[in-house]
Formats: sequence, C-alpha cells, structure tokens
Amino acid sequence: MPSPRAALGPNCSAAPRIGKYRGQNLADRIPALDLLLQQVRSCQLCAPHLPLGPRPVLQCHASARILIVGQAPGRKVHDTGIPFNDPSGERLRDWLGIDRDTFYDPETVALLPMGFCYPGSGKSGDLPPRPECAATWRQALLAQLGNVQLTVVLGKYAQDYHLGKSSEPLVQRVRRWQDYWPELLPMPHPSPRNNRWLRNNPWFEAEVVPALQERVKDILGAKRKSNPGSARREKT
Ligand code: SF4
Repeated sequence: MPSPRAALGPNCSAAPRIGKYRGQNLADRIPALDLLLQQVRSCQLCAPHLPLGPRPVLQCHASARILIVGQAPGRKVHDTGIPFNDPSGERLRDWLGIDRDTFYDPETVALLPMGFCYPGSGKSGDLPPRPECAATWRQALLAQLGNVQLTVVLGKYAQDYHLGKSSEPLVQRVRRWQDYWPELLPMPHPSPRNNRWLRNNPWFEAEVVPALQERVKDILGAKRKSNPGSARREKT
C-alpha cells in the first residue's frame, strides 16, 4: 500500500512518467489524464491572486470509484501538498469509514476540490476557491473519471457546481440527500468550523453518515471482487 506521499507524487497521484516515453512522441504515448495533470501542475493562471503562489493539490486516477469534491486547500494542505491532511480530512475519513491508506489510494478515491491552490484567507476564514480553476480544468478532468460510482459534494461551492446553482440553504439541500442518492451526496464541509452546524443537526451524523459508510463499503467490496489482488483496509 503506498504511503500518502508516495501515492501523491509532488502534487497529484498520477504524475506523468515521462522517462519511460523518452524518444517517443509524447502526445501519442502519454495517457490523456497524465498530460492533463502535467498541465494542471504547471498552471499559473491565477498566480497574481494567490498569496503563496500556485501549488495545485489534487488526487486523481482514471480508475477511481469515489470522487470527493471539496472547496480549496487550506494552509496546512498547501504546505504539505497532501489533500485533506488536516482535521477536516480526519473527520472526512471517519465519515467515509476508511483509513488513510484507502483514502490516499488514487485508484480508489479521487480528490478534486473546486480550486486546486490555496486561495489565501480573509476575516472569516479561507477565501473562496478561485473561479478560474473550475472554469479551466474541471470538465476535462471529470471527463477522465469514468469509473466513479459516488461523488461526495462538500459545501456550497462544490454543490452549486455539481448539483446546480441554488439559493437553497445548505442544510436543506443536505436534508434532501436522498434526492441525489446513490450517485451523489451533498454534505457539509467537514471543517472544524462546522462543529456548531453538526451539533445543531444531529440527524446528519445519525442518518446520513451510516448510509455513506454502507455505500463506501459496498463500492470497496465490489472493487475487491473485481480485483482480488487489491487489499484495502477499512475501519472496523
Ligand atoms: S487555482 Fe487552479 S487555475 Fe488557479 S493557478 Fe491553481 S491550478 Fe491554476
């Protein structure tokens, strides 16, 4: 099982293996997703707006079965280059019922936030994801993820993109989670900033989280059956 850092490479799980294509026409030989990720990693599009400069943090592989859509990297994620390597990630893995090895296996889980670089912070926390990012990269990346069975959509920015723009309060959209189930699941962001939201809405962890864990278990079980060599560890 790869460690998170080994799985991710410098910024993403599917770093192009340029060396093995040396002397060949790269455009013909490198898979489209690898080329795309190479372009994302060198993206400078909104550099003037990023206080710490571009450092795209994402994880993706064409085989991924579960897609997690977050907001944008926070400071700690920017510093480490590892997505959800923070208290939000700890809570998210608990909600999913999986450990770090499974979470950071790009052939199982894709992590594509709405903005790939740390956008900086303002008076009330981190700034929104840069809008250029989804407009530039999102459709092309999603088109490469043909095996996704469940998309977990965290927070308003992600939900407006993946579920349709809406003025409906997040709590109501999450309440209607079964309208999107089982392909999509709107959830609050797992950030500690949402502790009060979670205290005020205990139905979420009592009703939605167990359903999510059951679905993830089914997806991982199906993957194990189709690929018996891949042993994945789930929390018990
Ligand atoms: S946030 Fe997205 S669009 Fe902006 S520099 Fe980073 S990768 Fe490029």
